Amino acid sequence: MNEKIWLSSPHMGGGEEKYVKEAFETNWVAPLGPNVNGFEEDLENYIGEQSNVACLASGTSAIHLALILSNVGLNDEVICQSMTFSASANPIRYQGANPIFIDSEKDTWNMCPIALEEAIKDKIAKGNKPKAIIVVHLYGMPAKMDQIVNVSKKYEISLIEDAAEALGSTYKGQKCGTFGDFGILSFNGNKIITTSGGGALVCNTLDDKKKAIFLSTQARDNAPHYQHSHVGYNYRMSNIVAGIGRGQMEVLDKHVGFRRSNNQFYQNIFESIEGITVLKEPSKNYFSNHWLSSIIIDENTVGFSREDLRLSLLEESIESRPLWKPMHLQPIFNKYDYYGSHVAEKLFNDGLCLPSGSNLTEMDKERIEKAINKLIKK
Ligand SMILES: *Cc1c(COP(=O)(O)O)cnc(C)c1O
Repeated sequence: MNEKIWLSSPHMGGGEEKYVKEAFETNWVAPLGPNVNGFEEDLENYIGEQSNVACLASGTSAIHLALILSNVGLNDEVICQSMTFSASANPIRYQGANPIFIDSEKDTWNMCPIALEEAIKDKIAKGNKPKAIIVVHLYGMPAKMDQIVNVSKKYEISLIEDAAEALGSTYKGQKCGTFGDFGILSFNGNKIITTSGGGALVCNTLDDKKKAIFLSTQARDNAPHYQHSHVGYNYRMSNIVAGIGRGQMEVLDKHVGFRRSNNQFYQNIFESIEGITVLKEPSKNYFSNHWLSSIIIDENTVGFSREDLRLSLLEESIESRPLWKPMHLQPIFNKYDYYGSHVAEKLFNDGLCLPSGSNLTEMDKERIEKAINKLIKK
């Protein structure tokens, strides 16, 4: 039996073990220490001078703190891209707030700026202005940030950028994660760089970063004893985990390069096949890390569905996955408001993510191409 080819698996390659070893040797085995500070600095240098980064336990905890720092509370409404992973939306409910889901547009598959404004106008007319907007850069593809930022400024609503999948992506030359009032990153096991688990909150101000660190370390007031005047969280990143992160930063751009060449590999396979399209950058303004390369299959044209392709890849021990099922269709979220015209639904029905790891070998690619061709030539 052939070895499994995964959708996206961890890929070490920098000085990860050196930093982790250092942490052991200096006994910084704690949720603070030189690696945490160092990883934050590395991230700040990478995504831009103006950014202030707080390393946290996960991307999900970063979204939660972004909502808290945007003053989202009980019964508030928060706008969220529908086409995403559930972790974008769950923290809205942690705050007792209610999500409002927005459809995708066809160019980037991310939040449709027109449906976004329509939702805001409607909610304002009903006397319930949304407190925050969560936009996602799905599969590494930047959303239409000019329009989204404009809407958020026009209506003075806090913008949270879920860049969990988009570290290394840029829009008009600016790094994803730096457009909003807050940006969030994830270093989970399947992301473009991984620390096993972990995340970060990108803040515009040092003051917000300090607040995030304060809340993430149990909100201890300044006193010799344990004194608390806020609800706190245990959300800080461990110094061991941060050591892996420092090593991964050394290979991040290389990983982006590998993932982009995977995307080119799929573009080449499918370019001559009518009815299958690979998601690509809509214009020169977009630079995607192509975290996952994804295709849309028009079943009527090609004669098979995305599920047929998924199963025939699986037969060859190759993992693929349908696109994210939109949040407004999930049993846990389907009672909340939704604005749009069912673009995300169609993407979910016809879309498939293909193996995209930065560690795919030439042999893996041969196997993938053969398995795809087998079905196409049937
Ligand atoms: C992975 C992911 C998250 C959550 O990050 P964790 O670090 O796993 O908590 C949030 N949003 C999106 C879009 C993701 O892909």
